[in-house]
Parts: sequence; structure tokens; C-alpha cells
Amino acid sequence: MNTQQVLLRDAMRRLNMTREVFADRIGTRRRALDTWLLPDDSSEFRAMPEMARRYVMEILERHAPEATEYTQSVHDDRIEAAPTGHHLLSVSQFNRDSLEHLFHVADVMQPIAHRRKVSRVLEGAVLANLFFEASTRTRISFGSAFCRLGGSVCDTTGFTFSSMAKGESLRDTAMVISGYADAIVVRHPEQGSVAEFASATNIPVINAGDGAGEHPSQALLDVYTIQREFSRLGKLVDGAHIALVGDLKYGRTVHSLIQLLALFRGMRFTLVAPPSLQMPRALVEAVAARGHEVVESDTLNSLAAADVVYATRIQKERSGGESIEGYGEEFRIDRALVERVCRAEVVLMHPLPRDGRPGANDLSTDLDRDPRLAIFRQTDNGIPVRMAIFAILMGVDAQVQRSMRDVRWQPPTMVRPDDALLNEQD
Ligand code: ASP
Repeated sequence: MNTQQVLLRDAMRRLNMTREVFADRIGTRRRALDTWLLPDDSSEFRAMPEMARRYVMEILERHAPEATEYTQSVHDDRIEAAPTGHHLLSVSQFNRDSLEHLFHVADVMQPIAHRRKVSRVLEGAVLANLFFEASTRTRISFGSAFCRLGGSVCDTTGFTFSSMAKGESLRDTAMVISGYADAIVVRHPEQGSVAEFASATNIPVINAGDGAGEHPSQALLDVYTIQREFSRLGKLVDGAHIALVGDLKYGRTVHSLIQLLALFRGMRFTLVAPPSLQMPRALVEAVAARGHEVVESDTLNSLAAADVVYATRIQKERSGGESIEGYGEEFRIDRALVERVCRAEVVLMHPLPRDGRPGANDLSTDLDRDPRLAIFRQTDNGIPVRMAIFAILMGVDAQVQRSMRDVRWQPPTMVRPDDALLNEQD
């Protein structure tokens, strides 16, 4: 993303304005604003006139003075570090400002994620990726994000091939790995285990999923995705109606996501699950106590007014053999259901993996050519967001923009056949 895009996106976010309203506010046509927001290698891209840039800065100064210094610093490539702490263990570490900052850094990372630029800001640093539970996306994308910033990655997967199989404690493992690595990503089947691991090290630790507890980096990329999808649709996250569907009891992604979305204003949540898989009471009460509307339901008919439908997989590995009563085909989200019940511009999301086997009661593959299905844009967003997490925790977020240079190899313009359909955004 170029400096002009970063400035404009940032201004819209800070002023809480849709593209339509922002274009009107700065006295330009929406069409012109759209061309200013394109990547600079797009044939439609237009440089914003200097007058317009100054006007944007002026409006920010008047209406969001606390943001001016920030946005000015964006323009000058000086970005304040966000106060997310030393480790990333829970979304409760974020407030609205540190969340916006992380999204801003993720925006800065986009040209690297899109393989147009490279950076070596993490040159010499080593990431230890410790996954004691199954993973594809999270492990590979954390590794890829670290490598794309110039670092190197060491991986270990499963208990069988680790010393934990010989009875080693989390604390001993943390003490040892601290001597080998400069950042540590941990996934573990027990809730609270990653925090315990982190308490034994001064090296930044990122929680990549602790049992049924939390999955903060997933929630960050989910909210980043919602913001980007909404920006295209001319909507704001504040006041949005988000439906979470499926295994809300054991699904750690939704535990993190609902808390992070609760940082926005006036949210409506519809939680659709059978009685045996409902969202933990404490989370429902905490979100309602912040003034958001929370409705619990056991039927997909209640998705009718949702702006986002976020489906999840049944976490069979966590239910400890408990029967999953009442979870049948009435929970399948397929094309017929979306056509019958959902809004025309609904955004369909899923943290993945989904059960794509015929007859599975999950997000159906018959929606794969539907542009409202955002799941691969969502997985793509995992890269800039995870790069931003590393950059902030390792204190190089202000150096990234200056460190970028053009790639020397020839990256494909579309990384998958359907990209024209799915990835129309920059
Ligand atoms: N990949 C996500 C997680 O690790 C979602 C899932 O597995 O269902 O929590």
C-alpha cells in the first residue's frame, strides 16, 4: 500500500467515515477517491492533488486532533508503537487505539504481502513456531510473515516429536527456547498454557490458540477483514450486526472475536448454536455489559438481518466425547440458505478449516464462486496482520515503510485462478 492509500484509509478510519461520506466531506467525487485508493501500479490509480492532501490533514486537525500527529507521522514514516505489551496472549490487551494502530501497520505491510516489495527489518531474527496441536494456516502464515520480513523460522509440530512427550514442563521448554529464538509462537491444547509458557520468558510469545481459550491473531485478522469488506461496501464496523454460528462453546476463534468486536460501538450480535454449544455465559455477559445487543438463537433463520455471518467448525477434539445434540443439517450454511435468508450484501466468513465433505454441516463448498464468500480474502489477510504483530512486538513497526524495496523475482499477478472475482481489493 502506498503512502497516499495509507493516509486516506487511516483518515477514514479515524474519522469513522465511509468512502461515500468521506468523499463528500473532502469535496470530491466517490469515483475520484476510489482511484486515489488504488495500488499505484494499477492503471486506474491517480495521485491525489497536493491541495486535497492538505485538506485531509486540516480536517483531521479540526475533527480528530488526537489523530493528526498520528496521521502526520504516518506520512513521515514515523509510527508510534502500540501499547499491546510484550506478549500477545489475549485480545483483552487491546483498546480501540492499539487495534487501529495494528491495522495501520498491516496496511503498510500490504505491498510485501502482495509480493511487490521486500523488507529485511527482521534480518537475523529467529522465530520458533511451537505447535502442539494441528495447524495449517496459522503455522504457515506466522512462518511466512516472519520470513517476508527477513527473519528465519524453526518449527516443531506435535507432542510426539517434542520433549514434552518425555515429560518436560512448559516452563523448562520456555526457558530452553528463549536461548534459541527471538520470537515464539505457541499453540497448545490446554487453556491458559500459552500464558504459563510466556511467564517463563522475556522473548515475545504469541498465543496461536490455547485449547478452547483464545486465538487472538485470528480475531485480529477477522476484524481487519470485516473492516476491509465493509470499506468496499460503504459500511462501518460500528453498529454492525454480526452473526456467529456453530460451535460457540469450544471455538476459541469466536471467543476472541466477540471480545475484539466489543471494542466498537453499538454492535448487535446474534449467536446461533444448539443449546449444547452456546457461547460461555461469562463472555455473553461481558459483551452485553458494554452496552451491545446480544441475541441467542438455535436457528439459522435468525441470520436474516446480519451484515456478517461467521461460521465455525464443530470442535470435536475438545468436546471430550460429549454428545453434540441437536447439531444437524439445519446448521449447514449453503447457497440455498444464503439466498433464502441472508441480506444481499452479507459477508460470509469462517476461520477454517471447514468440513468440505459431502453432507457436512458446515459452510458449504457450493458457495465457492459467490463473491460474498470472503474466506480466502480472510486467509490472505493473515499475512499482513501477522507481519504487523511481529513488527509491533519486536519494535520495528516504524522502520518497515523505509525498509521496502522492489522484489527482484516475477511474482504472479493472481495467485489463484479466481482472484479477479475474489480479490478485487488492492
Ligand atoms: N483454525 C481455527 C483454530 O485453530 C479454527 C478451527 O480449528 O476450527 O481454532
